Amino acid sequence: MEFRILGIKMSKLILVNFDKFKLDNYSSNIDEICAKFDAKMAVNDNDNEISLHTEFCGGGSRFSNTLFDKEGCYQELKSQTEEVYYRNGNCYIHFPLLWISKEWSIEFAEYILEFCQKIKKTPKVIEIHPPFKDKINLDEFLIHYEFFEKIILQKFHNVNILIENRTGTLYSNIETLKNESPFLISRVEDLVELSNKIRLKDLRLKITLDLPQLLNSHKIGYSTPQKLKKDIHEIMRSIKLINHHIKGLHLWGYGTEIKSDGEKRYHVAHFAGFEGIIKYVNLPIEGQNVILRYLVRALHDCQNENEYYLVPEIFKKLNGKDILNKLMLQLEESGFKF
Ligand SMILES: [Zn+2]
Repeated sequence: MEFRILGIKMSKLILVNFDKFKLDNYSSNIDEICAKFDAKMAVNDNDNEISLHTEFCGGGSRFSNTLFDKEGCYQELKSQTEEVYYRNGNCYIHFPLLWISKEWSIEFAEYILEFCQKIKKTPKVIEIHPPFKDKINLDEFLIHYEFFEKIILQKFHNVNILIENRTGTLYSNIETLKNESPFLISRVEDLVELSNKIRLKDLRLKITLDLPQLLNSHKIGYSTPQKLKKDIHEIMRSIKLINHHIKGLHLWGYGTEIKSDGEKRYHVAHFAGFEGIIKYVNLPIEGQNVILRYLVRALHDCQNENEYYLVPEIFKKLNGKDILNKLMLQLEESGFKF
């Protein structure tokens, strides 16, 4: 269905159930399922559709999913890893090196197919993540990715394959990057370049925009209040240029837990609501509505269908349900439809 206000198409959000909680005024028939290399095989016994969240290299990953148990299977996935020393070498983290070779991409597609077969589901969405940029460049990534896409689309003709922009990870051994994100696709200019190359190569790949991670990678929090509006305006202007390649949206923030003794504890991901983004990226209070309104304008007027899968990355813990209800209202007030 298309929504129009004064002749302008409005953006419609399709809610994806994250952390499986039910809201009073909103329902969804699509569940997010974790398909990381150390995911437990989910038993999803309802009729809902699924959105697979695949390996994202946040804190490393062991290959503890039972699909890796068979001897001799997925050799390339299991061998392409790097151990990164953390906290002055006191512990190390084991990171899979995503998209590192053609063989890796083929095995990754086979892993996704086997995963879906095991849980007896046809995915509506498969979310993938970018590799580390000290390992592989964008052209190499897309050459490897294409093998993955072909295999997946042969089996799941209508699936949406979405890549998420990434910033936060414990992968931090890259001297030359200093405080930059180690991921190949982090900043808005990375997304624009990706979009151009997707078009040239005629790929089906689309983007799911993780807004908090995007703002972080631009260090928006370091803007002065005067510069803030300009910075967000610039970012959203670029988002508008590539809105035809955006098909998903991730929102989360920064949460506060008040302990019984009155002590405050802060959580970054994912206990929180979008209002927390102000604190997380250190925005002045009026910042959040400015961002959402810019976002609506950047997304709503695109040529193609303008429906976006919304993954509100908020955990049920604490008062997750209240936070999510509030976020949904805030999105509606900003001009999104459900
Ligand atoms: Zn995300």
